[in-house]
Amino acid sequence: MPLNEIAASLYAWDLADETVERCLDNLQALAGVNSAYLVGMMHKEKRPLHARFYPHNPVRKYYTPEDSRAYWRPDPAAYPGRIKPLTSDRDFLAGTDWLEVLIKDARSRGMKTGCEISHTVIDAQVAREQYPDVLQRDVFGHVVGTFEAIEAQRALPCLNNPDVAEYLAGLVTDLVGRHDIDFIQSCLVMFGSGYSRSNTVGGSAVRASWNEVLATTTGGCFCDSCRDKAVAQGLDWDAIVAEVRHLNLVYTGRDLEQAHEGQLLRESNYSEAELLLENAAFASWLAFRRRSIDDLFALINKAAHDARPGIDFRYNTYMARPELAGLNFTSAFQHVDSVRESDYSDQLGTAEGVAIKRAKLMKVRRALAYDKPLLAALGVRPNATPETLRASVKAAVDSGCDGLSLGHYDGATMERLRAVTEGVAEWEGLESSWIHQPDRDRS
Ligand SMILES: [Zn+2]
Repeated sequence: MPLNEIAASLYAWDLADETVERCLDNLQALAGVNSAYLVGMMHKEKRPLHARFYPHNPVRKYYTPEDSRAYWRPDPAAYPGRIKPLTSDRDFLAGTDWLEVLIKDARSRGMKTGCEISHTVIDAQVAREQYPDVLQRDVFGHVVGTFEAIEAQRALPCLNNPDVAEYLAGLVTDLVGRHDIDFIQSCLVMFGSGYSRSNTVGGSAVRASWNEVLATTTGGCFCDSCRDKAVAQGLDWDAIVAEVRHLNLVYTGRDLEQAHEGQLLRESNYSEAELLLENAAFASWLAFRRRSIDDLFALINKAAHDARPGIDFRYNTYMARPELAGLNFTSAFQHVDSVRESDYSDQLGTAEGVAIKRAKLMKVRRALAYDKPLLAALGVRPNATPETLRASVKAAVDSGCDGLSLGHYDGATMERLRAVTEGVAEWEGLESSWIHQPDRDRS
């Protein structure tokens, strides 16, 4: 099948600084982009992410966004509950519906359009002050954050909390019901998966794994909503809490006996299967998280299709090991219309990195079955090379992808964008490559 969709993401500040015309001119001409989406709700993450400074922004060297702001104009009627989307307080962004800015120009070029709700949907500081009860808790009751150190005071909402579910459905209804978008993409962080993990680059499936499964005991969630839902499903919550507390201490080594036990395990040939067989309550909690994430996908699917039946609900993966956040591809993907596999291992700049990407694509392809589009992310940023980008297009072709999705224009170099077009031509990714053309093929 051809790589029919070549998508690219843009941020509101890219549009403000470079103009939507310049961004889309470059993406269209250099990389063959025919689908543009706004990261409509963005988490607190310095941009560009990997490089220290922007390679081509004419206004600023770098940007530090506010936490979880909406860059469209939200409709208050879509949010009847107590959690409401926040918009930007920055002068150069405030008051403009950046999604409409992108849609208007993209449609004039005949492009597809979309909007992403990225990793987080609440401002952590606001939530800690105004509705701390909706936040994920670890097994000792501490608020669970995203990827940063606990000192960063971040926070994740619990996806089993009814107020959070209402808010999420509101975001989806607002975006799909009131904007001319073809797809709504979710890259939500799910259950906190524990400390010290880099989840976007690398991470092969063969890495020693039982210790990473054990790390989930430092993640979420053990809030009241989770307890009530688990008990209603017949789980022994007290047994789960007791077992996970013990395993948490073994993992962190915060007390002498448990630290000693952790040392023995790490010097032994212990396995992931043994960990799960030995700790049945812990294993039942992991399965409970999986069912909870399935419910989340069903909720977003329903809100999106209730707002507009023809909408494409696209999931954007974000982790090397999504199962540690509760996501099982096979069950959750029953509720999606397409998937963007967000691996950026091409940025390792090596053939091994491309092999990691290929393996992840194969895993999604199998779980998604063959009738739903799969898009391979390409990291068009300086850590990737034109060679790894062209090889990544081959990995997409090898794994039966239906499109590509570039991440992210703000950090891209023009040479990396050109490598996308070159890779698509080299590996014959478009149907036009498969049809003899006298002009092109005259030797
Ligand atoms: Zn919870």
